[in-house]
Amino acid sequence: MMTQPADADARRAAPPVICYPVHDLPLEDVANLPLEPDDLTKRSEVLVPPREARTFHVAAGQMFRITSVEGPQVGDLNLWNAHDLTERFFSGKTRALHGTHVTTGDRLWSCLPHLRPMASVVHDTLGWYGIDQYGGSVHDVIGTRCDPYTHNLLSGGQYHHCCHSNLTRALAGETGLSLHDAEAHIHDVLNVFMCTGFTRDTGQYFMKASPVRPGDYIDFIAQIDLLGALSACPGGDCSAEHSSDEATCHPLLIEVFDTPLTGQSPAPVNGYDRSHGR
Ligand SMILES: [Zn+2]
Repeated sequence: MMTQPADADARRAAPPVICYPVHDLPLEDVANLPLEPDDLTKRSEVLVPPREARTFHVAAGQMFRITSVEGPQVGDLNLWNAHDLTERFFSGKTRALHGTHVTTGDRLWSCLPHLRPMASVVHDTLGWYGIDQYGGSVHDVIGTRCDPYTHNLLSGGQYHHCCHSNLTRALAGETGLSLHDAEAHIHDVLNVFMCTGFTRDTGQYFMKASPVRPGDYIDFIAQIDLLGALSACPGGDCSAEHSSDEATCHPLLIEVFDTPLTGQSPAPVNGYDRSHGR
């Protein structure tokens, strides 16, 4: 047994401090924007087959909607600046700013040195879910994406339809990059519709059956021109396992709409001067 210091309880009793209070961020410009059906003109749609990924383009000010169709299904989302693949979604900082799961009013931020909003969540039909008795919630930015390397590490074998590989194939097909070069651009995801958390006793990442049902959707306003890729995870609703063909899987629908904001200027890049004190 490890011995505790005499003041262990006092040290544990130090109150938590929110690292990054976001109440001063100018979130009100597009977040919580009231968008009525009459404001939207559909421009394109892509149906993502089960255990595959597809790409899509969204211009700044357009809205994209991801909808559950046919049955409960989780999606792994990657986003890039459509003009520069090195600017990509920064799941870690999005988590630090908004919390472990995102919903209406939260933003998806790009990586350093850009750190600007790529998209904002403007409607989420699963917003009612909140945080359940296990500490689980929906649309997480804590998972990474299922990948064949972790699968090989834990279970052995070669499985080719993990989200990581699906996204790699889709990006290679979109850009003409080799699979090897495309793979380097795949990054930690937004787990759309996935219900996850950390166990209270061991702090381990857990998943549970997604509460999503056909007809549920989540809407994002793009704040820069985006290239997106969405994988319909081989875990299906992620109630049991992933990285195999065992789970029941369904397609996911992506739709892109013009909005009154279409054509707006992209969000400005971060204001830090990048001199790093030298
Ligand atoms: Zn997956």
